[in-house]
Amino acid sequence: MTETRANSKKLFIKTYGCQMNVYDSDRMSDALAPHGYETTLDMGQADLILLNTCHIREKASEKVFSELGRLKELQDERRAMGGDMLIGVAGCVAQAEGEEIARRAPVVDMVFGPQAYHRLPDMLARAEAQRHLHPALRKSIVDTDFPEEDKFEHLPAARKEITIKRGLTAFLTVQEGCDKFCSFCVVPYTRGAEVSRPVAQIITEARGLVDAGVKEITLLGQNVNAYHGLGPSGGSTSLGELAYLLAEIDGLERLRYTTSHPRDMDDVLIAAHRDLDILMPYLHLPVQSGSDSMLKAMNRRHTAAEYLEVIARIKAARPDMALSGDFIVGFPGETDADFEATLKIIADVGYASAYSFKYSTRPGTPGANLGDQISEAVKNERLWRLQDLVNAQTTAFHAACVGKTLPVLIERPGRMQGQVGGRSPYLQAVHLEGSPELIGSIHQVEIVGTSTNSLVGRLKEAVAA
Ligand code: SAM
Ligand code: SF4
Repeated sequence: MTETRANSKKLFIKTYGCQMNVYDSDRMSDALAPHGYETTLDMGQADLILLNTCHIREKASEKVFSELGRLKELQDERRAMGGDMLIGVAGCVAQAEGEEIARRAPVVDMVFGPQAYHRLPDMLARAEAQRHLHPALRKSIVDTDFPEEDKFEHLPAARKEITIKRGLTAFLTVQEGCDKFCSFCVVPYTRGAEVSRPVAQIITEARGLVDAGVKEITLLGQNVNAYHGLGPSGGSTSLGELAYLLAEIDGLERLRYTTSHPRDMDDVLIAAHRDLDILMPYLHLPVQSGSDSMLKAMNRRHTAAEYLEVIARIKAARPDMALSGDFIVGFPGETDADFEATLKIIADVGYASAYSFKYSTRPGTPGANLGDQISEAVKNERLWRLQDLVNAQTTAFHAACVGKTLPVLIERPGRMQGQVGGRSPYLQAVHLEGSPELIGSIHQVEIVGTSTNSLVGRLKEAVAA
């Protein structure tokens, strides 16, 4: 589909799962904009609905099929009134289940995986060409191929108006896929092998975001610190080296990256945390378990001691580094002692925040073939205990900030009149009294208290206009 449509049609994207899906949804809406599709937040108005799905846990994929049931009703209503609506399923469920989605939910016009987003306009043209057919005769278009070409080369750059709508912070995918093959995880199958975008492409996109007013960029990748993109002199560039290059962009004030693997925290990246003010002192570094036998069964390829050693090196470079992590409870064979080891590593590290999940069997992963599955009751009990510990650590981390003065990027009006809100370097939400003119820059804020999930601050002085 090459022509540009004068008449605007409405696109609604529902995004499930991780930040990479948020970024991908924006790219899809960018790809469809030249073809006359304008994003709407009202599903009822949409001519095209895309579900950008997540396959990481069973519940995440189940949600897609129940949503498709609801969409069928909406589509039937629309057709009864003489209209129509196209439906597409994108993302990791689409990649993993492909034809099966089309079979289980014939309501779907297009099924396509994360590597096919640049082909979306063509798929849509083919779906639209079937509109004159009776719904029973239309065929779902399925594209789950991993292409030879670089998807990012074929996707349009972020549009300025979309960027502004996103606000002062933006995601930028630098790496996709994973070669680690942790035994519980579907990512290497749904997102494919590790691929890094070339440095020049990333710098151009980052500059475009900054020109459009973005102050903080979060670099994304399933395994972001395994990044090894083609550099300016033809060789491979690491994430640490990329951070030094991005730090030279005028107007970019904050840089973050997620998600990292402990084995890929190399010396350059750690040194970048020491050298670059722009690199925020908050690191999401999942360990999954504190037990070496579980880590081995999970194929994490590091021990608990090695993880702690990486953290010690990071803290030596950046003593105020706040850490976050991911934990899985109830992996097959996890004993009480294994679980206690997980509580111990949490106690040893002291997290600012953490995500925790009950193990969910994913078909096709090595974990799915393991015996000794843990009962739901045990998983629940372990999850509650772990979350109690992490919540106490988060509360303590917030409380320790009281009395400190932190630079806060003020991003939006607050919930109350006369308030504004933003983020601390440690990714904490901060609320304070202040006028809307503060929005858009970093200000020094004295932390005077905490509330459930955020900090309460008082403006000290403006550091940037
Ligand atoms: N690449 C990252 C890493 O190595 O830690 C994480 C990627 S994954 C999208 C996010 C988190 O989902 C994982 O860290 C893990 O805790 C959780 N997860 C992945 N597969 C899971 C499964 N089968 N059951 C429960 N949690 C899972
Ligand atoms: Fe999944 Fe492991 Fe790769 Fe993370 S490192 S995406 S958990 S396989």
